[in-house]
Amino acid sequence: MRHVVIVGAGQAGSLLALGLLAEGYRVTMVSERTAEEIKAGRILSNQCVFEPALRHERALGLNNWDDVVPPVVGIAFDAGMPGAQDPFISWASPLDVPAQSVDQRLKMSFWLTEFVARGGELHTHKATPEDLAGYTREADLVLVAAGRGPQFDGVFPRDDNRSPYTEPQRGISLHLVKHKTDFYQGVTFGLVPGVGEFFVLPVLTADGPRMGLYFSAIPGGPMDVFTGVTDHNQHLELCQEQLRRFFPWSTAAAEGAESGGPLEFLTGRIAPVVRHGVGTLPTGEHVLAMGDTAITNDPIAGQGANNAVHCARIYQQLILAHGDRPFDADFMQTCFDRYWDYAQHSTRFNNDLLAPPPVHILETLQAAQEHPEVAHRFAHLFNDPTDYVPWLADEETARTYLREVAARVA
Ligand SMILES: Cc1cc2nc3c(=O)[nH]c(=O)nc-3n(C[C@H](O)[C@H](O)[C@H](O)COP(=O)(O)OP(=O)(O)OC[C@H]3O[C@@H](n4cnc5c(N)ncnc54)[C@H](O)[C@@H]3O)c2cc1C
Repeated sequence: MRHVVIVGAGQAGSLLALGLLAEGYRVTMVSERTAEEIKAGRILSNQCVFEPALRHERALGLNNWDDVVPPVVGIAFDAGMPGAQDPFISWASPLDVPAQSVDQRLKMSFWLTEFVARGGELHTHKATPEDLAGYTREADLVLVAAGRGPQFDGVFPRDDNRSPYTEPQRGISLHLVKHKTDFYQGVTFGLVPGVGEFFVLPVLTADGPRMGLYFSAIPGGPMDVFTGVTDHNQHLELCQEQLRRFFPWSTAAAEGAESGGPLEFLTGRIAPVVRHGVGTLPTGEHVLAMGDTAITNDPIAGQGANNAVHCARIYQQLILAHGDRPFDADFMQTCFDRYWDYAQHSTRFNNDLLAPPPVHILETLQAAQEHPEVAHRFAHLFNDPTDYVPWLADEETARTYLREVAARVA
């Protein structure tokens, strides 16, 4: 029986672990935390997972929350100038199939418990880069799915050609508040040039439905105010203040809301980075990166968890198709290349959203207000970011499309 070791029990690692277990592989997962610790910990993400990724979770029978999670029904977009009371662009488009945000603490703790119940071997400790050589001696294949951060930098170096940013491009802040039933039950995406973005969406937590208030502030800009806040009530007050000041049309998302609790908020900064996905250890053995360990995006386009699912799906298909052949460096490179074939699109979409929007993109967002077809297409970039480059990366193509839409409805 082939033996696979996966370091990290998050969205990427757990999904691959459970997928391979179901196919008869021996799988060991190394998790720095127990299921109980994950469940009782601080929030991790806004984790909006769109339909193509949900399809893979459903195919593995890991969609336990379909009947209880509030469906994320669409995407609403508003853009306004700093100080304006009303947005100058405002539209909403339904998603063909709703997305979902199931609190990762709930999801990952359940999947970890399921992994053990289904016969997976769990080692609970924080793996170091030095531990990896030991795992390669025990297993046929070792994957590192330990999330973002510098801990495995020495194993998976940064790929400068694919990483346009060297610094974080946003100060990020998330707060889960007790449910407001009267707010739009999709993702609301607000943009104020020079200030940043605000997103709000319904989230299912272990304590019931919440709204996730997510602020994405341009570093050093007027909304970059969350660093160092440690009290949840003070954090929520700051959230409410930023909404009144920069996104007054969205204040209902937080006004009168109650904080989910002391662990229901986070602040931070994430430097987007694409790494070389195949690591060579000092022993000469190779290991393969997954999910955020391979490609870390700023959360602006809500693609990281989706990427993690697609990574698990792609790697699983390739592992199964490889049969009994050795999982050598060439095989690992093929896996990472196939993942990049997909993730280059979400990464480009994501990285472009961090830059000031060019005029043709603002024109497109403006046209979406008039033409539901344009709004629908833009909303579905979150489902399928492979449509981004063929459509919006090129100014002329974007304008031609708008002319065609206008001619069709004239
Ligand atoms: C505020 C915020 C909002 C976000 N919103 C969205 C969104 O709406 N949609 C979306 O798609 N993405 C979103 N993301 C990104 C998404 O959460 C991540 O991209 C995704 O969780 C990555 O999955 P992963 O499995 O690669 O890593 P993780 O989910 O980080 O999992 C890594 C796991 O490895 C464990 N681990 C770490 N180091 C070790 C070690 N040394 N040994 C053992 N275990 C270890 C960790 O404890 C963790 O359980 C958001 C992120 C943030 C921070």
